[in-house]
Amino acid sequence: MLSSQAEPVRVCVTGAAGQIGYSLVYMVGSGAVFGPETPVILHLLDIAPMMNVLNGVCMEISDCALPCVRDVIPTDDPAVAFKDIDAAFLVGAMPRKEGMERKDLLAANVKIFKTQGQALDQHAKKSVKVLVVGNPANTNALICAKYAPSIPRENFSAMTRLDQNRAQAQIASRLGVPVSDVKNVIIWGNHSSTQFPDVRHAVANVNGQEVPVYDAIKDDAFLKGEFITTVQKRGAAVIAARKLSSAMSAAKAACDHMKSIWQGTPEGQFVSMGVFSDGSYNTPEGVMYSFPITIKDKSWTIVKDLPIDDFAREKMDATGKELCDERDDALAVCQD
Ligand code: NAD
Repeated sequence: MLSSQAEPVRVCVTGAAGQIGYSLVYMVGSGAVFGPETPVILHLLDIAPMMNVLNGVCMEISDCALPCVRDVIPTDDPAVAFKDIDAAFLVGAMPRKEGMERKDLLAANVKIFKTQGQALDQHAKKSVKVLVVGNPANTNALICAKYAPSIPRENFSAMTRLDQNRAQAQIASRLGVPVSDVKNVIIWGNHSSTQFPDVRHAVANVNGQEVPVYDAIKDDAFLKGEFITTVQKRGAAVIAARKLSSAMSAAKAACDHMKSIWQGTPEGQFVSMGVFSDGSYNTPEGVMYSFPITIKDKSWTIVKDLPIDDFAREKMDATGKELCDERDDALAVCQD
């Protein structure tokens, strides 16, 4: 039963008038992340020209009559959006426009995440958990954390859960098993086309038996080839089909990610998130690298000592190098 006495969780969604925001606010309001018994106060941030659209979203939230939603605060002011919040989904970002170079997109977004880091630092609870979805997600998360020095940097993470969900679904479909019967798929590195979706350590439940995915699929060429490129290029395939980028699945993944932080990971299972690299697995230190992690009491730990073969090493290094390049470009923009 939803208690009228329970302290509400204050949840900020940025880019709340956008595509992902539209699905995400419903999922959060329905209790899918913080639990059906936890009341939430939704702080919805977007930019001034989107306030009309955002008001429409607020009307719809009201019309959903969601028991968990205690209050909704639409705003274009980060100080209001981040005031005393417990959790943040940073979705709002500058979209790539025609003819825009990758560097220009990075520069525009780095500035947004620098400003939002500073606002989080000033206004959010120090315990706030910040999930960065807006691209380039890993590097935006790094910049956001850098400009919020009073908040522990472990509280920031970047989303690679959509890639994990895509990989898990591909394997489940290939094996003809429910997606919940595939566990411990890993996304290493950057949320970009250099990411390495890795099922070397994954297991699947096939006919009541838990078996390594490599043994269950028995097609190394597929797992080292088509499977990886399908996951890496899935975002582009959705755009080609829908003429819009992934939104429902991105919102679901953001909810899965935050739910893992809030409720922890089940025994024997790990999930992937972009978190500060401590150099584990010889990855570059100090970038937001996606690792397999476990979570307990809202704190994450990188899963250690998984064996890494030469095939994986090369892919993990390539995505690590891209993250270092992005970090260097982003830090140069911040100095401007
Ligand atoms: P969208 O363009 O539909 O919505 C983005 C919203 O952000 C817009 O309403 C825009 O006005 C708002 N916005 C822009 N600047 C802002 C700012 N400074 N403060 C607050 N709001 C701001 O885009 P979308 O499809 O919802 O995607 C949002 C972001 O998520 C994009 O960067 C996209 O690339 C990224 N994304 C990431 C993943 C992932 O797996 N990490 C997956 C899908 C999409």
